[in-house]
Amino acid sequence: MNVVHGVTLQGIKALKVEVEVEITGGLFVIAVVGLPDASVKEARERVRAALRSLGVSVKGRVAVNLAPADSPKEGALLDLPIAVGIAHAKGEIRVPGPTLFMGELALDGRVRRVRGAVPAALLARDLGFPLFVPEGNAREVSLVKGVRAWQVGHIRELFAHLRGQSQLKVIEQAEEATGDPEPDPDFSDIKGQVAAKRALEIAAAGHHNVLLTGSPGSGKTLLARALKDILPPLSDEEMMEVLLVRSTVGLPLDSSRRRPFRAIHHTSSTISVCGGGTNLRPGEVSLAHRGVLFLDEFTEFRRDLLESLRQPLEDGFISVSRASGSVTYPARVLFVAACNPCPCGFLGDPVEPCRCSPSAVDRYRRKMSGPILDRIDLCVTVPRLTPDELVQAEGQGGESSTRVRERVLRAREVQWDRWKNLGYQCNAELPEKALRKQVRLDLDGRRFLKDVAGRIRLSGRGISRVLKVARTIADLAGEENLSTVHLAEALAFREGGDLPWDR
Ligand SMILES: [Zn+2]
Repeated sequence: MNVVHGVTLQGIKALKVEVEVEITGGLFVIAVVGLPDASVKEARERVRAALRSLGVSVKGRVAVNLAPADSPKEGALLDLPIAVGIAHAKGEIRVPGPTLFMGELALDGRVRRVRGAVPAALLARDLGFPLFVPEGNAREVSLVKGVRAWQVGHIRELFAHLRGQSQLKVIEQAEEATGDPEPDPDFSDIKGQVAAKRALEIAAAGHHNVLLTGSPGSGKTLLARALKDILPPLSDEEMMEVLLVRSTVGLPLDSSRRRPFRAIHHTSSTISVCGGGTNLRPGEVSLAHRGVLFLDEFTEFRRDLLESLRQPLEDGFISVSRASGSVTYPARVLFVAACNPCPCGFLGDPVEPCRCSPSAVDRYRRKMSGPILDRIDLCVTVPRLTPDELVQAEGQGGESSTRVRERVLRAREVQWDRWKNLGYQCNAELPEKALRKQVRLDLDGRRFLKDVAGRIRLSGRGISRVLKVARTIADLAGEENLSTVHLAEALAFREGGDLPWDR
């Protein structure tokens, strides 16, 4: 029976790799089957040097078979299982039963941290296999419940453990995070900005994407960062998804239930945003999974980059193609875009005059229309406070994030309850058909909406967005029926329909 197993990553999942070793007489050679050429060569050198450092000499023809041979694998994760497999075949050590090993070897036998330890731990747990991981990965493995795992600093310690000469350190399960994450920044730290805070509360409650428009220095980034902490804390399942993505990228992990916040810049490469590359890994949009994705200077983004964000915004995942097929990464994000009101940035500013011609402003606004804007439900202006207003607002930050989050949570519960039979979680997810059927207006409401929609030339899609937002506003108020009050507030966040995507 084959007992030595390694792992390889496919998307954010770990797949089991069986390591079979056969040693026959003849001239020395290590042949590895089932790895891409470049990584075979590197893995072979590292494994041989590490074994030599233990005084284990490898002679004869060594055939290492990694099954399944046809699935693509990353060499570094497999150094440790290949070394163990060779030593096991030579009778140097005995692996008692099916066991998973992962780790990259240094030439002197130290075991280096690798990416993907959380997916590997989940796989080991599901298979019921014990797991040996690099010391540097112990922390993330401790966040997975129900896995039997040991941490390895040097391959010598692992061999001593398998020979029964000494014991490796068992990875204990980390303590559960207690309490909700501390908001940073807190809503009460942000002066003024009543309308923007209200828009963010609605966004958080119904999972609506937001556009913030304001001059440089008005606090758009601060507001976007505050949004993650008025969202409900991550559930167990969501937290595991977040950990899986981070582990797959090789980023440090903690047990906090805070939602991710990732900002991308308009100069970012498509690979860094969407994922992919030679060492296939998730991008920023997946690192923001279950949290907030922030695009500052939205009008500067390349069309193709925005186009590639369309799939995650619609489907909650992103597919990345490569030669051997495609992988899928999770990417369910709350999207916040921010931009200046005009090319110079000061249109409508209380202090600085705008230097743009009307036609320049018009051209700038037209640039905003496009693939992503039709996914945005709320638009709000973030004015820069005058020095006087700033002084006046001192100590008047208003409600804390924790208070706002309580209302958001209640509104979320109402939505879960209402849509659970249809399979939706939030108002923003409702497709057109369900929306028309499920979100009813009384006679007054219908008359009001028809009147305004005609006056500001609101498109069919525009009306749908107003209805969804109004439904969330009513849910925040704890009201079952939609009234003209809710519609009027929702319409106010369309900026009078003065934006290009409504036409
Ligand atoms: Zn201007």
